[in-house]
Parts: sequence; C-alpha cells; structure tokens
Amino acid sequence: MSTHTDTTPHAQAHANHDTIHDTVILGSGCAGLTAAIYAARANLKPIVLEGHEPGGQLSITTLVENFPGWPEGIQGPQLIENMKQQAARFGAEFRMAHLVSVDLSKRPFALNLGKETLHTRTLVIASGASARWLGLPSEQALIGHGVSSCATCDGFFFSGKEIAVIGGGDSAMEEAIFLTRFASKVTLIHRREQFRASKIMLERTLAHEKIRILTNTTVDEVLDVSKKEVTGLKLRNVVTGETSLLPVSAMFLGIGHEPNAKMFAGQIDLDDDGYVRTHNNVMTRVPGVFACGDVQDRRYRQAITAAGSGCMAALEVEKFLEEHGR
Ligand code: NAP
Repeated sequence: MSTHTDTTPHAQAHANHDTIHDTVILGSGCAGLTAAIYAARANLKPIVLEGHEPGGQLSITTLVENFPGWPEGIQGPQLIENMKQQAARFGAEFRMAHLVSVDLSKRPFALNLGKETLHTRTLVIASGASARWLGLPSEQALIGHGVSSCATCDGFFFSGKEIAVIGGGDSAMEEAIFLTRFASKVTLIHRREQFRASKIMLERTLAHEKIRILTNTTVDEVLDVSKKEVTGLKLRNVVTGETSLLPVSAMFLGIGHEPNAKMFAGQIDLDDDGYVRTHNNVMTRVPGVFACGDVQDRRYRQAITAAGSGCMAALEVEKFLEEHGR
C-alpha cells in the first residue's frame, strides 16, 4: 500500500460520501490568487481558504508601482481585488476559513476547518509570511499612516522627510539604505549594541552619510495617533533609562518576518526559521503538496515573484492530477 493512499474503510467512507476536491489553496495573497487563477482556468474548481490576513501583505500596502502592467501603479488592495475577481470568474470558490489542523499523511489530505473537514487530492500552501511588529497600540493604529513594514512599497511617499527604521538585522540595514533614496535623513534604531546584520551590510549602513544609528534604544510610543499621522517617536535608552523624542514622518519596521507554516511542522520540511523547504521551485517532500510565495521564499519576497511561484504551483497541481488521477 502506498504511504499516501489510504484504502481503509474509514477513508473509503469519506471518499464515497464527502466531496473530494481536486485542489485547495491555503492563502489569498498574490501567490494563492495566482494559483487560483491558473487552477480555475484548468477547470479544477479550486477552493481558496482566505486565512487570517485575507489578501496577504498587499492588502496592507498602498501604491504598488513595481507590478508589471500598471504604468501608473495600482493600490495593493485593488490589485488583490482584481486577482480575486479574475479567479472567481473562472470558478474559484473563496471561503473565509482558518485551518485548524491538517493531516498530510495520506491522500486525500484532510483539512480541519473547525466546523467542517475538507478532503483534497492536492494542497497549495500559500499562507505567506507576516511582518513582525513591535506590538505597540500606537504603532498598530498608524499602520498605513506613516508606519510600514515595507520600504520598497511605501518609502517613496516620504521624499525629503526624516524616517526611522527599527531593527538590527540585514532587513533593517537594507531598508535603511533603500530609504536614503527618498529621505533627508534615516535614523536606524536597534534595541541592542550588537547587530545581527552581516558585516558588509552593517559597514555600508555605518558609512552612509544620511544614516544615523541609535543602539540600546527602544520605541515606547509612536506619535501622533490623534492626528492620524506619524510626527515622532518616544524613545527609551535601555541602558540609562533616559527617554527622548525623535521627530520623524515615518517608522519602518525591519524586525523580520514569520512564515505562516507552523501548522505543517512534522508533516513537511521546514527550515530553521520555519520557511517551507521546497525543491523544483514549489514541491514539498509530500507528493501532491506544493508551496509558493513568501511561506517558502525568504529571499525575494516580491508580489511578482509570489505570483510567479503561485503559477508554478498550479501547473504542478495539474500535472500531478494528470499523473495520479482525479
Ligand atoms: P533577523 O536577522 O532575525 O533580524 C531581526 C532584527 O530585528 C534583530 O536585530 C532583532 O533584534 C530585531 N528585533 C526582532 N524583534 C524585535 C522587537 N520586538 N523589537 C525590536 N527589535 C526587534 O531578521 P531579518 O533582518 O529580516 O533577516 C532574516 C534573514 O534574511 C537573515 O538570514 C538575513 O541575513 C536575510 N536577509 C538578507 C538580506 C541581504 O542579504 N541583502 C536582506 C534581508 C534579509 P535582536 O538582534 O536583539 O534579536
């Protein structure tokens, strides 16, 4: 008996009485929606589980200027809505549901959504990665109003302004250097004295004339929620306890991302930071389970690369179903 084909009476009862879907796509960001467009056009009637952040990271972005085909740019939420409509037009079905648990040990795979269990011959994991935030109420209130986790998306809006970047790893260095294209001055704020960033990135940052670095410093509050815009940061030196006010027009978080893949631990391979390990671009170690977008990509993390890998995942689903039967 194949390890991935369950022929027990229990499984056969499922097979007889429950619908077995050809494919379920977990996530409705750029990767998941592109997979949905391709799978729907292949008449696979994909079920898209929208997850806890419907639309993914693009849905909390403003103007997207680097997605090919939009010479004037397009608002992130609009781009997502367009993709969703495109997938729905070809028969994709969207469900507002969260995956509670999953069993990938046999086919059809079982996805427990709490109130119901879906059975599917293939699964596309496109659950993305979520930016880490500091967790301050004032920060959360000002996301999209000067607080951002994406320099390439939002840096342009702060031309000629003073900007703060939080973090001490490569992402923060990269964001700080990128933001010097627009900002009059960038202050990089790190909570410790030592940096996680690679030597070369740190050296570049330290040498940049527009960047100032504050170490041993944390943010207590982002001002000014009442004005619905960022006017400054209340800072604290963690060594001396001294507080200060830094006037800035924007705060960019560069404190890392968390791939949304914890629920798959032990069933497919994850790397040390929790990203899904794939081979041949989108294949996991479980036949019939594919992963695309930011949940498996720590390097590029762009809307267009997520869309590209979503396309690949759907094409692999088609090929898999041709080879293994529907
Ligand atoms: P990272 O290496 O995990 O660094 C995260 C940074 O954010 C750390 O300095 C950490 O401080 C800080 N931080 C985390 N939570 C915080 C909090 N609540 N408050 C304040 N600070 C907080 O993450 P990353 O920079 O995103 O890099 C992830 C991986 O991608 C790394 O392997 C990196 O090399 C790679 N990457 C490479 C490049 C490149 O080569 N161009 C660019 C981007 C990312 P502590 O140090 O005190 O923990």
